[in-house]
Amino acid sequence: MPLATGTVAERVATLRERVDEAALAAGRARGSVSILAVTKAQPRDGVLAALDAGLHDVGENYLQEARAKYDGLPPCTKHFIGHVQTNKAKAIVASFDMVQSVDRLDAGLALAKVARNAERRLRVLVQVNISPTERFGVPPPEAPQLAARLRDEGLEVDGVMAIGPLAGDVDAAFATAREAFERVGGTTLSLGMSDDWERAVRHGSTMVRLGTAIFGPRPAKERSLA
Ligand SMILES: *Cc1c(COP(=O)(O)O)cnc(C)c1O
Repeated sequence: MPLATGTVAERVATLRERVDEAALAAGRARGSVSILAVTKAQPRDGVLAALDAGLHDVGENYLQEARAKYDGLPPCTKHFIGHVQTNKAKAIVASFDMVQSVDRLDAGLALAKVARNAERRLRVLVQVNISPTERFGVPPPEAPQLAARLRDEGLEVDGVMAIGPLAGDVDAAFATAREAFERVGGTTLSLGMSDDWERAVRHGSTMVRLGTAIFGPRPAKERSLA
C-alpha cells in the first residue's frame, strides 16, 4: 500500500474509482461496494472533507472521540466500529446509526434494550473473529445463532463485520467471513481496510473501512491505541 498522497478529496476520488474497478473485476456492479471513512484520530475537518468528497458513511472506534467530532455533521450514516461496552450502550445508540461490532449476546442485549426504550430501529452487524491476533468477534460458526437471538430482541441484523488477519492465510480468513455473512443474511459484509480492501472486495465485501488510505497515517499515539 503506497503512502497516501494528495488531498482527502483527491484520495477519495481515486479510491472510489479503484473500488469500483475492483468490484467490476469481481463481476459486480459499480457502486456495489461502499466506502466507510474511518475517522479515528482525525480532526473534525477531516470528517467534513471526506463527506464533502462524496462519502456517506463515517466510523469511529471510540465513543468519547466521536461525540464532539460527529455532532451536527451534514447528512451521513455514523457507524460504531469499536468494542461495545455494555455500560456505554445508551451513549452508543444516541451517537451512532449503526453498530458494526456486536460480538456477543450481552452487548447485543444492552443495545436492544436501549433501542427499544428509545423506540428506535437499530441496525447492527455481527462481528466475527477471523484472525488469531484479534481479541474480539464471535467464532464464525456461532454467528448465525447470535444473529437469530439479536433479531428476536428487535435489532435489525444486516450482516457481518470482520477484521482481517495481519499475516497468514488472508484468503481463507476472508472466505470464512463471507460464509458467515451468507448464513447470517442481510445486505452488508463489512470487510477490508487500507491494506487489504482489494482482496476483501474479491471475497464479496460490500463495505470497505478505510482510514489511512483516505487520511494518511494516524499520529503515533493514536496508532498504538488502534
Ligand atoms: C482503524 C480501523 C480501520 C481502518 O484502518 P486503516 O488501516 O487505517 O484503513 C478499519 N476498521 C476498524 C475496525 C478499525 O479499527
